[in-house]
Amino acid sequence: MRYYLEGHDRLNPVLQLLICLFPDEEHIRGDGEKIGEYVVSGLSEREGRICAWAEGYWGARREELCPEGMDISAPQVSEYIRRSLYLLLSERMDKAPQWGMLTGVKPSKLALKLIEETGSKAEAERILQERYFVSERRAALAIQTAIVSQHYKQLRRKDDIEVYVGIPFCPAKCSYCSFVSNDVRRWGDLVEPYLLALIDEIKGTGSVLKEKGRRIKSLYIGGGTPTILSKEQLFMLMSALIEYMDLSSLEEFTLEGGRPETITAGKLRIAREAGVGRISINPQTMNDDVLRGVGRFHTADDIRRCYHMAREQGSFEINMDLIAGLPSDDDEGLVYSVRELVKLEPENITLHCLARKKGAPLRFGKTGELSERVIDTCHDEMRKAGFEPYYMYRQKYTAGGLENVGFAKEGTFCRYNVIMMEETGDVAALGSGGVGKFIKPGGKIVRLSNPKYPLEYIERHKSAQSDWEPLRLALEND
Ligand code: SF4
Repeated sequence: MRYYLEGHDRLNPVLQLLICLFPDEEHIRGDGEKIGEYVVSGLSEREGRICAWAEGYWGARREELCPEGMDISAPQVSEYIRRSLYLLLSERMDKAPQWGMLTGVKPSKLALKLIEETGSKAEAERILQERYFVSERRAALAIQTAIVSQHYKQLRRKDDIEVYVGIPFCPAKCSYCSFVSNDVRRWGDLVEPYLLALIDEIKGTGSVLKEKGRRIKSLYIGGGTPTILSKEQLFMLMSALIEYMDLSSLEEFTLEGGRPETITAGKLRIAREAGVGRISINPQTMNDDVLRGVGRFHTADDIRRCYHMAREQGSFEINMDLIAGLPSDDDEGLVYSVRELVKLEPENITLHCLARKKGAPLRFGKTGELSERVIDTCHDEMRKAGFEPYYMYRQKYTAGGLENVGFAKEGTFCRYNVIMMEETGDVAALGSGGVGKFIKPGGKIVRLSNPKYPLEYIERHKSAQSDWEPLRLALEND
C-alpha cells in the first residue's frame, strides 16, 4: 500500500502497523500527489491539543485526540498515530486481528508494564482489549505470561546474569529457516576453528563476570543445532564452561539438541555429567511427509526413539518444538503433531507459528491460511494435558500474525527463555550472531553484538585480542 505522512515524520509506527496488518503487500512511502490506493497518516493541532488522524483513498477519516498538554515530540504520540491508522484500516479488514494494533514482538512486556502501572491484572487485561484492540483470548494469554515474567523479575538480584552460547551450525538448512544457520556439508571446516574462538570468548567472558561479581543463574547452549558437535567437541565446550565460568549459582543449564539424528546417548551423558538439566528435541512436526518436504532427514519415529533414549540417559527436563504453518501441513496435521507430543509427556512444548521469509506466500492447508482457530485448538489440547503457557513472543511476517508460545508442566518453566524474551535481566551472548542485552535503570537496554557469521567471528578472533572493555562497561550496575 502507498502511504503518506503529513505533519509528522514518524515512519516506524505507520510502517510497522502496515507490515503487521498486511504482511503480503509492499508498502511504499508516497511523495507529492496522492495516487492509487493509499492511506495518509497525519498530525495537526485542534482545540489546543495534538490530533492524530488517518485518511484512506476511499474517503474515510479517523481522528484521535492526544491528552491535553501532550507535546508533539512526546514518544506517546506514536501510539495515537497507530491508533487512528488502525481504526481506519480495520474498516477494510475481513476480521479483526488477534493482536489488534499491537505491532511489537513482545506483547507480554506491555502486559507486565500495564500490570505494574495499574496494580491490577484485570485492569491490565481490560486495557489490552479496549485500548489496543487485542482479542479477549490473546489478552488473557499476554497477562498469564506476564505474571510469570513478573515472578522472575521480582526474584532478580542486580548481580544475576544469564549466559547464552551459540553454535550456528546445522546438518542441513531447513527450507523454512530464517535464522543464520550454517549447513555443515558446506561449512563443516569452520566448526573446529569456531569452537576454539568460542572457547576463548568463554574464557574472557568468564573472567570479566567473576571480576564484576556476577552470579550466572542460567546457561543456554542454543543454535543452530548444538548437538552437531562431535562428542569430543561437546566435551571440549562443556569443559571450557566448567573451567572458565563460575557456575556455583547456576539454577538452569539447557542444551538445545534440535534434530534427533545429531543426538546420541554418548553426547547426552557428557551433557548430563556437565550439569545440563534441560534439553530440546525438536520435531517441528510429527508428519513424515511434511518433514521430508522441508528438508529434514528424520522421521517422527526417530523423534520418539530419541526422546526415549534421552529419558534413559537421566533426569532431563525435555522441551519439544513444533511449528504451525509448515508447507504442506494442515490443520489436522498440526493438531495430530500436538497430540503425539502430549502423549510422550515432555515437560515443555513450544508451539511456533512459521515466520515467513518476506513476501513468501504461506503454503499451509487448503486455503494457505493459518487461523487462530487451529492454534487455539492446539493450545487447548496442551492445557487439557496439564501444560500452561509461560512465555510468548511474536515475529515479523509470522503466519496469521500469530504468536510463539512456550508451554510447560508445573514447576518446569525455562528461566532463560522468560528473562531473555521479556528483557527483565542481563543476558551475555557468546558466539557468532550473539546479542547481549544489559538492562539499565529506567528500562534502557545496552546491546553488545558479536559478528553475525562464523567466518567473521573466527577472523575477528584471529586478527585481534578481544577487547573486554565494552562488556565491563555494560556490566556496570549504575
Ligand atoms: S535445524 Fe533449526 S536452525 Fe537449523 S536450519 Fe533447521 S530450523 Fe534452522
